[in-house]
Amino acid sequence: MQVRNCKKCGCLYNYVTGPSICPNCLQKIEDKFQTVKKYIQQHGRADMEEISRECEVDTGQIQQWIRQERLQFSDDSPIKVNCEMCGKMISGGRFCHACKDQMARSLNQAMGLGGVMTEAPPDRKARDNTNRMRFLDNR
Ligand SMILES: [Zn+2]
Ligand SMILES: [Zn+2]
Repeated sequence: MQVRNCKKCGCLYNYVTGPSICPNCLQKIEDKFQTVKKYIQQHGRADMEEISRECEVDTGQIQQWIRQERLQFSDDSPIKVNCEMCGKMISGGRFCHACKDQMARSLNQAMGLGGVMTEAPPDRKARDNTNRMRFLDNR
């Protein structure tokens, strides 16, 4: 059994897997997520600062949820995140439409070359590949 310090509260706990956060704090973050989700449903046009203030969650955490596509915003919501490829402002996920298109195209090319992902940067994770497959299915 491995014992670690929680990154959030510093307490010692039995580490199993995932981020170095104790079950208590994980539960608190999950509770916050529900609070934020509800707040957004009731205040569709709230911006990041407001949500952060009203729900007492730091904006970094909110951005993380947006990237994970756990939080959904209406089209007129002022909340945007940067596309991880080109930096364009988008309303959710990790990449803008243009970059998703671009990635789908390079995947097509790679498939043409016998399925070798020649264009994939080395730091891409397997998760990205499944995302790309999903984009292809959408076409
Ligand atoms: Zn903790
Ligand atoms: Zn982009």
